[in-house]
Amino acid sequence: MMTRIYLASPHMSEEGYEQAYVKGAFDTNWVAPLGPNVNQFEQELADYVGVKSASALSSGTAAIHLGLKALGVKEGDTVFCSTLTFSASCNPILYLGATPVFIDSDAATWNMCPKALKKAFEDAIKRHQLPKAVVVVNLYGQSADMDLILELCQKYNVPILEDAAESLGSTYKGRMSGTIGDIGIYSFNGNKIITTSGGGMMVSNHEAYTKKATFWATQSREAERHYEHKEIGYNYRMSNVVAGIGRGQLKVLNERIVKKKEIYETYKEAFRDIEDIEMMNICDFGESNYWLSVMTLKETSQVKPMDIMLALEKENIESRPVWKPMHMQPVFKQYPFFTATDDQPVSEDYFKRGICLPSDTKMTAEQQQHVIDIIKGLFK
Ligand SMILES: *Cc1c(COP(=O)(O)O)cnc(C)c1O
Repeated sequence: MMTRIYLASPHMSEEGYEQAYVKGAFDTNWVAPLGPNVNQFEQELADYVGVKSASALSSGTAAIHLGLKALGVKEGDTVFCSTLTFSASCNPILYLGATPVFIDSDAATWNMCPKALKKAFEDAIKRHQLPKAVVVVNLYGQSADMDLILELCQKYNVPILEDAAESLGSTYKGRMSGTIGDIGIYSFNGNKIITTSGGGMMVSNHEAYTKKATFWATQSREAERHYEHKEIGYNYRMSNVVAGIGRGQLKVLNERIVKKKEIYETYKEAFRDIEDIEMMNICDFGESNYWLSVMTLKETSQVKPMDIMLALEKENIESRPVWKPMHMQPVFKQYPFFTATDDQPVSEDYFKRGICLPSDTKMTAEQQQHVIDIIKGLFK
C-alpha cells in the first residue's frame, strides 16, 4: 500500500521552531496552563493579523462560544450564521440558549450571501427581533464579501463574529481575514493551515472582548488572593506547551500559504480541459490562503463526486465532500433558513457537487500528479 496522501495534516517546520519553544516550556517547567508562550503567541498572532488584542483558547469552538457571549448573546436571542460550514460555527449559539438562523451562500464566494442576509434582516424586522450577532464564515480560506455584509449589519447595528478558522492569513481588500468583524476567531486544530494539535484564538480591536474572554476562560477568577467568583467560568485557556507549538507554526504560515496556492494552481491547470470539472472560484477582492483545494462537478457529469472519492480512497488518498449545510442537518433542521434563490439553494448545490481534494503541504509533486492522474482517468 502506498503511503497515505492526506487532505491536510500537521506540518511542523523543518527548522524545529515548535520543538524549541516547547523545550523552552519544559526547561523552565512552564508546563502549567499559563505561561510566557501563551502571552507571546497572543502578541505575535495579533501583530501578524494587525489587530489590537488576542485571547488564546483551547479551541476555535471555545473562541466562538466566548465571542458570542462577549457580544451579549443569551437565552432567547437569535443569531444569524452561514449555513455552509462546519457545525462548530453554530453549536455555540445553542450552548448559549439562543436560536440559529441559517443564511445561504453566494455562488461566487461560497460564503454568506448578502441578498439572503438582507431577506433574513427584513424578516427579523417584521418579527421585531433583530439578531444579537451574525456569524460570518470564511470557507476553505476565502473571505466572504465583507463590505456588503458589513453595510447591512451596520444598518441594523448588529455585530459580526468572523469565523476565520479556515482563513488565517487570507485577506479581503488588503485587510486580514478575521479582523474585519467586531470579533474574529481562528482554529489551530490538526488539519488547519497551522496547528497546535488543538487550540484557538479570539482577536478583536476592542480589547474589552478579548480580556473578558481570557477572564471567562480561566474560570472567571477575580483578582483576589483567595478564589473569588462572581460569574460562571470555563476552562478554555490555551496551555503554555500548546502555545509554544503555535509560536513555531506562525513562523512558517506564509510558507504554507505559498505551498497551498501552488497546490490549487496545479489542480486548476491539470483540470483545465476537463469540462465537467470546475475549481472553486477565487474572488479577486482578496488573497485566499487556499487551505483546501475544492472542485465541483457539473450537474450533467457522468462521473459523480462519490466515484472520485472512492477511486482516490482505493489508492489510500483522502478526500471529502464539501460541508453539509447546517440547515440540512437533522440536529438543526427545525431552525429558520434564508436563501436568495427560488431554485436549489447554493449551499445545497455545492454540497452535492463539491469535493475537497488532497491539499496537504507535505504532499510531493509526484503525489499530487498521482491524484490528478486518478481523477483524469475517470473522464477518459
Ligand atoms: C475547524 C473549524 C472550527 C472549529 O475549530 P476547533 O478548533 O476545531 O474547535 C470552526 N469553524 C470552522 C469553519 C472550522 O473549519
